[in-house]
Amino acid sequence: MQTLDAGDPAAHARAVAARFRDVHGRHPDGVYAAPGRVNLIGEHVDYNGGLCLPMALPHATYAAVARRDDDRVTVRSGQQAEGFDGRLDALGPGRAEGWATYAVGVLWALREAGWDVPGMDLVVDGTVPLGAGLSSSAALECSVALAVAAAAGVDVDAAVRAELVRACMRAESEVAGAPTGGLDQTVSLFAEEAHALLLDCRDWSTRQVGWDPAAAGLDLLVVDTRASHTLTDGGYGSRRRDCERAARQLGVELLRDVDDQQAALAALDDDVRPRVRHVFTEIDRVRTSVDELERGDFEALGRTFTASHVSLRDDYEVSCVELDAVVDVALDHGGLGARMTGGGFGGSAIALVPTEVAAGVREAVAAEFDRKGWTPPAFLTAPPSAGARQLA
Ligand code: ADP
Ligand code: MG
Repeated sequence: MQTLDAGDPAAHARAVAARFRDVHGRHPDGVYAAPGRVNLIGEHVDYNGGLCLPMALPHATYAAVARRDDDRVTVRSGQQAEGFDGRLDALGPGRAEGWATYAVGVLWALREAGWDVPGMDLVVDGTVPLGAGLSSSAALECSVALAVAAAAGVDVDAAVRAELVRACMRAESEVAGAPTGGLDQTVSLFAEEAHALLLDCRDWSTRQVGWDPAAAGLDLLVVDTRASHTLTDGGYGSRRRDCERAARQLGVELLRDVDDQQAALAALDDDVRPRVRHVFTEIDRVRTSVDELERGDFEALGRTFTASHVSLRDDYEVSCVELDAVVDVALDHGGLGARMTGGGFGGSAIALVPTEVAAGVREAVAAEFDRKGWTPPAFLTAPPSAGARQLA
């Protein structure tokens, strides 16, 4: 069974610094880490101005950096064979390609924002699985963002972190060419240990919500199904367009802004009604989940997670057989609740499970995937972890 260990951050920091020395023959000036994330609840509501409740994983990307005296930028990754080598003024849209766009796009976006970004060498390495819906892309961007801030001599306070979120979003949307709503970058830069982050996607305000599953005898199990049924359009684009069409029909900018939800649902066409019902009910479930977390009612929280999955499966239609299997097996083996997380059509699912049954749930999920002949899933245990920070 494949379990993905987050490892010890200090050991990862030493390893990436050692790799930097091997590649460049000098010490890095600093090492920075930024986590991947998992969304506890509030799925497909970000682009409707809704609420979501992500938290940082202990799995992170580590970036070692040193300034250069010239205008060159180099980037190497422990996860990729090809490196990047280019000039500071040639990092923007269409100038770089491949994975490095996520990294150098951040330098470009900060230059666009008026920062005096120097030439630098970057070496990154990480433990967030790539493309599993756990936001390795934001982890890469945000670790590089902190490295760039240090190289540029900028002190990082909350206002700078907010600026880094915007730069990372521009890097991903405009340089890497992957539209992103900002949830991933916000949680990677603002998360706190033993907390989830309530994020209001209408005004981008945040609130820390205490969340310490271990203290309640629970594990948050993350299952990377290793499945990807995403077509070019990903289904994501068509769901987004459905919501935009419904909002236009209802005369609001965002579905969050609808006052009379029952009347709105009655007015909509049959094909978009279930989509909008998901958005309305999911935003409610986020509020409910925050109450349940604050009351410490984890049985109720589990049921709310499962209700979210049912809504994503049946109303929003973004689940798939592998995600449904994880949820069903987790519930059958003592899980309090489970749901797909992220965009869907593959990627990852989460299950809230009493610690004493966690191993049994993992084994049962692995056995079910084996029985179906699917690619073996990978398992992560996810205590809510710290946001992006300096490690050395
Ligand atoms: P997710 O963010 O869910 O992992 P994405 O498709 O948004 O999936 O981002 C994955 C891409 O980000 C990878 O294909 C790669 O291009 C880039 N990436 C992420 N982490 C790293 C890393 N540590 N090293 C190199 N590239 C990375
Ligand atoms: Mg991503």
